[in-house]
Amino acid sequence: MKYKLNGPRKDKVKNQRSLKVRLLNQRGARCERCRYNKREILQAHHKDRNTNNNELENLELICPNCHAEEHYLENSWLNDSRYNGGVLRMVRN
Ligand SMILES: [Zn+2]
Ligand SMILES: [Zn+2]
Repeated sequence: MKYKLNGPRKDKVKNQRSLKVRLLNQRGARCERCRYNKREILQAHHKDRNTNNNELENLELICPNCHAEEHYLENSWLNDSRYNGGVLRMVRN
């Protein structure tokens, strides 16, 4: 019953916005990593990847560039290949 796809979505966006406002007020309008200071585009990042954990120490106020980098690096196949030898296998096949 709780897994409706349409309902909670808007709430989540709203939550993300108010989170961002809270972070902006507390930490100032700049990326915590590269100090980029366009407050409009800054985003709230959840360090533990749990978007329900809105504890301040779990949140980072960062720009989309730093944010993409964080998640992209984490999901990149290049990352995996370092551990499982994927590059070699891919070249041979
Ligand atoms: Zn940044
Ligand atoms: Zn994030």
